[in-house]
Amino acid sequence: MVNKTGQCLCGAVNFSAENMSDSISICHCKMCQRWAGSAFKCISAPTDKLTVSGAENIGVFKSSDWAERAHCTKCGSALWYRVTNGPYVGGTSLAIGLLDDTDGLAVRREFYVDYKNSADVLPDDREQMTEAEVMAMFAPDNGED
Ligand SMILES: [Zn+2]
Ligand SMILES: [Zn+2]
Repeated sequence: MVNKTGQCLCGAVNFSAENMSDSISICHCKMCQRWAGSAFKCISAPTDKLTVSGAENIGVFKSSDWAERAHCTKCGSALWYRVTNGPYVGGTSLAIGLLDDTDGLAVRREFYVDYKNSADVLPDDREQMTEAEVMAMFAPDNGED
């Protein structure tokens, strides 16, 4: 388990997160790419172990029936993806670019690899899931991220 601190570009939102796994996930879906500017690289924190200051500067976009995405309303930094409905509620996927350091973290899994843009590479040493595999795992009754 690791603890990390981080902030948005302007510093209006900052946070500390405790009891996170050391695993970075990368999501290549088009929603993440459009929201984060490229593949979304994130680390999951238990939401109840996430302490945020500057919450009044956070905007939330409900991107699907079961998830929302937060950003800083002052500088626009993408902050996190959070499931709001279903069995995966309780975790917050923080953008790793916000972290003050990524020491000890490693990429373990990639989602929606069939949507990867040509700027990204897919090394063999990670779990790689296609859209169909992600859907089967997370949302067997739905068709969107
Ligand atoms: Zn900001
Ligand atoms: Zn995604």
